Amino acid sequence: MTRSLGGAELATSIRNDASVAAAALAEIGVRPKLAVVQATDDESTAWYVRSIASAAKRTGILCDIVDLGAAASTEQIRSTLVELGHDPDVHGIILQTPLPDETDLDALREAINPAKDVDGANPVSLGRLVARLPAFAPATAQAVIALLDHHGISPHGRTAAVVGRSTVVGSPVAHLLVQRNATVTVCHRHTTDLAAGTRDADILVVAVGIPGLITADHVADGAVVIDVGTTATADGRLLGDVDAAAVDGRAGALTPVPGGVGPVTTALLLNHTVDAAASQYAQTRSDSLLSGFRSSV
Ligand code: ADP
Repeated sequence: MTRSLGGAELATSIRNDASVAAAALAEIGVRPKLAVVQATDDESTAWYVRSIASAAKRTGILCDIVDLGAAASTEQIRSTLVELGHDPDVHGIILQTPLPDETDLDALREAINPAKDVDGANPVSLGRLVARLPAFAPATAQAVIALLDHHGISPHGRTAAVVGRSTVVGSPVAHLLVQRNATVTVCHRHTTDLAAGTRDADILVVAVGIPGLITADHVADGAVVIDVGTTATADGRLLGDVDAAAVDGRAGALTPVPGGVGPVTTALLLNHTVDAAASQYAQTRSDSLLSGFRSSV
């Protein structure tokens, strides 16, 4: 029997914590606010962004969707990000992908104020994560670790394989697993024998975006399999990277899609936004105390 590692319960508990913290901030006059910048007419992306906005509202977080349209240029998106980075009422910024084909995604990620980078997209955040310094981890990568913790699965001393090496999921997950004392193999599009890289892993994390890529041949008996893939179909279904029917009975545990990593990711984005609001408030307070002190000496 393959155990299902659902994310709904964990997501609810993270959202509840965030909502308590948001209420405490509201008491002192701080309303945490998230801005999501999108530039696409892809309906499944728009649906996902609206789901973040409604979860934010239920948690006591203001959320602005800044829709620049599918024809937006890199410069338009960049200046919007810079403006939001300076806006004292905005505490968290998410740059939603996909963006128009010609946009320079690397330059845009660098334009996100690191203090507000609640989805760990700026290379400064990733660098700090690798250096084991405080930073917002990309929410999806952190959701993988949070789900393992929630279900009592420790990476310590285990072998792990990560399929996918994107800077938002695969690479940070691999680093977080190493930081939790796993021995990690990273596979990607140039891996010639994918099954050889994955079939001995105690923990297998898949973040590729190819539905059904992972079958029984890729999975060790009893392995814990975390499916990060979410490919939307034309008829509105969400498909994972793992062929759940094929690995059923072989994997020891598997996250469902939808209902696994996804809800935890959204909850963590909200949690990060509240944390960002709290630290920006603390920073403003210490700045003003400091300037009061300076002017009095
Ligand atoms: P995401 O944002 O979900 O991480 P990306 O498109 O940025 O998605 O990255 C996809 C990752 O999947 C890349 O690191 C790529 O190397 C990996 N990948 C793509 N195709 C394969 C494949 N056939 N086998 C293994 N890895 C693959």
